[in-house]
Amino acid sequence: MDVMHAASGYSPHTPVPIEVDCVMGSYDPVALDRIACELVGIDPDGVDYFRVAQEAGLGTTDRESIQVIGDDLACCATKMWVPYLEDIRSRWPEYEVHCEGACSSCQALLTLNMETLKAIGAYEENQDLVIVAGGKNTLSPHTPDEKIMLHGNCTRKHLKEHPNAFFLQGCPPGEGSLYMSVLRKEAMTGKPEQTPWIRERMEADAPTWRSYVEKEAEKFYGSAKQ
Ligand code: SF4
Repeated sequence: MDVMHAASGYSPHTPVPIEVDCVMGSYDPVALDRIACELVGIDPDGVDYFRVAQEAGLGTTDRESIQVIGDDLACCATKMWVPYLEDIRSRWPEYEVHCEGACSSCQALLTLNMETLKAIGAYEENQDLVIVAGGKNTLSPHTPDEKIMLHGNCTRKHLKEHPNAFFLQGCPPGEGSLYMSVLRKEAMTGKPEQTPWIRERMEADAPTWRSYVEKEAEKFYGSAKQ
């Protein structure tokens, strides 16, 4: 595992590289990931795939049974900023966000899009929307369809009760689909007639978003970050 320049931030879309200067190897890929979490300060209990991998006999995450040789982990340990691993259910209280059952791809995109709304100054004006990702959510039948953004194929089932909700198909949907759908009040799924508007908007918003991410990274890493 190459952990020389780890991609923190909104990787792989908008990475903020950090220097970890480490290379690791193991015959057990699950144990390798478990130690990598320790190296960059990610709580292994929050990594869903570990449970499945262990159950499937692909490797171990039991720290007691993993031997680390070579440099002391503490010497290379660097806390990495991974904003989409924080609790995203309560992160945008101005919106009603449902994300039970969302896998890491939709979690990352949900975070990226909600933060993009903030970055471009469109967060507050859209704040009573209901955003849904993942396949284990229950929605109120009384929520008006025009308030609901269904992000990803896992949310298709809600169309039965809310046939006119905005459905962003894809597994996962396109990178900026959610925030652009919020802006346009239309499901922006990359149809040919939407493409020119999407391209223009992405180009216009990219510098603002990059600068927002860099400021957030600076807050996290403090002035010590290179
Ligand atoms: S739509 Fe695809 S990417 Fe999104 S939560 Fe479902 S399985 Fe994961």
